[in-house]
Amino acid sequence: MKFYSTNNKDHKVSLKEAVIKGLAPDQGLYMPEQIPQLPASVIENLSKLSFQEIGYEVIGAIFGEDLSHDEITELVDHTLAFDAPLVEVEKDIYTLELFHGPTLAFKDFGARFCSKLMSMLVEEEKVRVLVATSGDTGSAVANGFYKVPGVEVIILYPSGKVSVLQEKQFTTLGENVKALEVDGVFDDCQRMVKEAFLDRELNEKMLLTSANSINVARWIPQCLYYFYAYSRLPKNSKKVIFSVPSGNFGNIAAGILAERMGLPIDGFVASTNVNKVVPDYLKGVPFRARPSLQTISNSMDVGNPSNFYRLLALYGGDEDLLKEKVKGYFFDDATTREVMKEVKDAQGYVMDPHGAVAYLGLKEYMESNSDVLGVFLETAHPGKFRDVVEAVHQEEVILPKRLAEFLEGKKKVEKLPNDFMAFKKYLMAE
Ligand SMILES: *Cc1c(COP(=O)(O)O)cnc(C)c1O
Repeated sequence: MKFYSTNNKDHKVSLKEAVIKGLAPDQGLYMPEQIPQLPASVIENLSKLSFQEIGYEVIGAIFGEDLSHDEITELVDHTLAFDAPLVEVEKDIYTLELFHGPTLAFKDFGARFCSKLMSMLVEEEKVRVLVATSGDTGSAVANGFYKVPGVEVIILYPSGKVSVLQEKQFTTLGENVKALEVDGVFDDCQRMVKEAFLDRELNEKMLLTSANSINVARWIPQCLYYFYAYSRLPKNSKKVIFSVPSGNFGNIAAGILAERMGLPIDGFVASTNVNKVVPDYLKGVPFRARPSLQTISNSMDVGNPSNFYRLLALYGGDEDLLKEKVKGYFFDDATTREVMKEVKDAQGYVMDPHGAVAYLGLKEYMESNSDVLGVFLETAHPGKFRDVVEAVHQEEVILPKRLAEFLEGKKKVEKLPNDFMAFKKYLMAE
């Protein structure tokens, strides 16, 4: 399979190049040249397959030309090492819990797939993954790449600017995960990483790559849990709708990929907080990036959603079709807090603020559409947003054992001044 850039359909590269480069040189996003179709016999029998078996079918259809049967099995088993249960919250409304991985957020799926695929594609060489993080990306990437042979992760984060729990999730692992505590802010970390990618001497000496969220190897595997959720829904004649809490729009784009591959999903709800560039676009306002606003669902505080052009590409550039299939709604923090409380009081189900936004979007859609079976994605464990959740319910959230264990780990970091030359020296000495 070749991958093209959303900025230039004629610029095509191999899987290896798409994964190692991440972003196309023209700043476009890589997309698979064809969207493979899953045979109808597979779609009809999904409910008889395990999560892993669904993974072999779907990943085989996309990567079958590039990877061996054994590699596909290994990749899927490594990625789907934990469940994504579908839980009924109320009549016709289900949630897909994507937070049972090592860092308790859905980004674990993409990070695990990406790390394993990179290690398969580079073989002999050692690859260094550079990550600047303001918190969550660092933990998902660090844990996804932990102990994967041939890959080393170097995380730069701003000293004192990430929560203790976040910091512990990427500084206590050790092994092939190195954490650099930078005396600066997130933008300084990002600048140092960017400079490293541009530095000739460094790039001659070592293979540097990024594992950011637009990488195809992080994006594509997210389609797997849409197939799985669909397979576990009751079979009836109702329309199946997924509501996705969206920030950079990678997750929802992966759902659309599943639909384009033949999964009978009738539509999507793009649910956002007040960072509502895409809901506005879907209602007819021209697409325009804006500065991001801070909210309680902060992993979605994105003013320039980087996967937007993937959505368009998946519908062959047909904006009318995109607007027909995807509806967008946005919600403020007060509404989000209210619904968290309502759902806990009425159904006993505790949502994190991101899942709550998706629930709201689904409810709004269902008000004007009947005969719908709705799934909203729960992208993080409520314990990850403990302050908000505890303030809403006036009750302690019990941290899952895995999170609590991170807090007991010992922080291992190297301190770095806010200076590219110091970072370069560190890399050269590695
Ligand atoms: C990253 C993230 C999102 C947004 O996902 P996108 O793919 O960027 O749209 C939603 N919820 C949580 C908890 C996240 O970490």
